[in-house]
Parts: sequence; C-alpha cells; structure tokens
Amino acid sequence: MPSPSTPNVYPIQLQAPDISRYAEGNTGIPYVHRFEADEPGPHVMISALVHGNEVCGAIVLDWLLREGVRPVRGVLTLGFMNVAAYETFDPANPNASRFVDEDFNRLWSDEVLDSARDSIELRRAREVRPLIGSVDLLLDLHSMQHPAVPLMMAGPCEKGRTLARRIGVPETIVTDSGHAQGRRMRDYRDFAEQGSPKNALLAECGQHWAATSGDIAFSCAVRFLRETGVVDAAFGGEIGREPLPEAAAWEVTQPVTITAEAFTFDQPFTGGEVLPRAGTLIGHDGEQPIVTPYDDCMLVMPSRRLTKGLTAVRLARRV
Ligand SMILES: [Zn+2]
Repeated sequence: MPSPSTPNVYPIQLQAPDISRYAEGNTGIPYVHRFEADEPGPHVMISALVHGNEVCGAIVLDWLLREGVRPVRGVLTLGFMNVAAYETFDPANPNASRFVDEDFNRLWSDEVLDSARDSIELRRAREVRPLIGSVDLLLDLHSMQHPAVPLMMAGPCEKGRTLARRIGVPETIVTDSGHAQGRRMRDYRDFAEQGSPKNALLAECGQHWAATSGDIAFSCAVRFLRETGVVDAAFGGEIGREPLPEAAAWEVTQPVTITAEAFTFDQPFTGGEVLPRAGTLIGHDGEQPIVTPYDDCMLVMPSRRLTKGLTAVRLARRV
C-alpha cells in the first residue's frame, strides 16, 4: 500500500520535536523508556507516534522525559512507536508520514503478528509487542485529519468507558471495536477483554497540527497519570485542572467499509456531526447510497483515504 500523500490544507502550529536523543531508551527497545518505583503499582504506559504525523503525543512525551517524570508507585513506560514514519515527517507534506509501509495501528492481533508477512511497521510492532503485553493501563495519544471534536476512543468494553469518564479529557467518549482492516494496539489481547483488569484508551486530540490538539494531549496525559496513581496528585501543576464539561458517551454501531472502487461523501463532513434524522444521505459507495440508520447518528472521523477495503466513516449512537 503506498503511503498517503493527500495534500495538506491545515497550518502546522505544532513543532515536531527532535526525539533522536531518546533513540537508545533504557529497555533494550529503541525509543522506549521505563521507570520503576519502589512501591508496587500498575504498569502504566503512554504511547505516541503510532501514526508518524501525529505530533501532539510526541510533544507530550518529550516534555515528560525532559521533566524527568518518575513514578511514585508501579511502573511508567513512555514509548515512541512508529519512529521510522515520524523520521520522514515533512511540514511541506505532513500527510505522507502517517506510516512507511502500512498502518501500524491495524496489526495488533496475534494472527497478524505471528504471520510470515513483513513490513517496517510489523518489525516495530513485533519489537514492542512483549512490552505492550505487559502494560496494565495504556494511553495512546493520536490526532485527526480534520479539525473536529476531540474524541476518547474507549474500545469495545464498558471498562474503557469507565476509565475514560475518570480521565474526563476528551469529554466525548466513543466505544467502538475498531476497523475492518485490522486491530489497533489499544485493542491488543486483554485490553479488549471485559473480564481483564487491563485497560486502554486512545485519545484523538484534534487536528494533527493544531495548537489546541497539543493542549488537549497535555491535559489528557497528565490527568491520566494522576488518575492511575503512578504520579502524585500535585504532578503537572496547573495542567489538566481546567473545569470540565460533563462527559458524553457514544457507541459506534458500525463502520462504513468501502466496497466499491470509489467512495464520495455527500457533504464535506469533518467528524462529530450529529445527523438528526434516520435515512439522511451520508455518501455513495460506488453507486450505492449510504444513509444514516437511526436518528441522531454521529459521524466518527470520516476519512480522506477513500480506498476500497478501508473505513470511510464510523457511525455512533448516544449511550
Ligand atoms: Zn492516529
């Protein structure tokens, strides 16, 4: 699959940090740092750059590492994931660095990870896989193609929604089971099993390069660290202390997976739109009209990569 090179129409307000100083890490895995407290506690991880052009998470990890964050209990891991893609980041063509060979966030089933297939992203996923398997609480920081309502993607289980409410940022919570074309890291093994105490959240902080996405990422990450108890309550000073609106929970009922050669949206949707009436036209999958299946249907992250087999948009209902 070629790397997407959709022309960029949005200003680059966030500076992609130089992360080369973190290459060695301290775990034997490049770009991964792990810190352990004397007091026992959960293994908490924040990950960034699962998509190489989503810089807000890298900015947060760079800050945490510069600040010298250390856990007061348990284990804290900070990891930059698809560094190979990030290294290709070019402010003149920022959409091209989402991945090198394939989407790192569609590889997270044992079937795919154990397969004979090879790619830059599979090599990295296999390298970090034992680590991801040992994490109790994961926050994976992402951003979005379009300016849209920030979303906390809480996965397929009720436990994800519960943790998302405790973190509170982003306040729009979406439970979903991901994409037809492959599993996300946040859904790996126990993260997506309701009976397991392990839990994961994927924060979509806003448009990839908008300054506000950086603010959301900081607030979300610091609140997550405080809430998990891996840092003390004073950590981060004023970050993440803003008054919060009440969280609203939505559930993805279905993805619209593209089956024809061409998919077009009826309107320039950017995501977060709530279409009040069932039967409202969303777009066309080839000749086939795609309409909303119920009243008050939210469009979750309409894609710009409208290629056969990919997800065009996901549909969600208020819980
Ligand atoms: Zn992403």
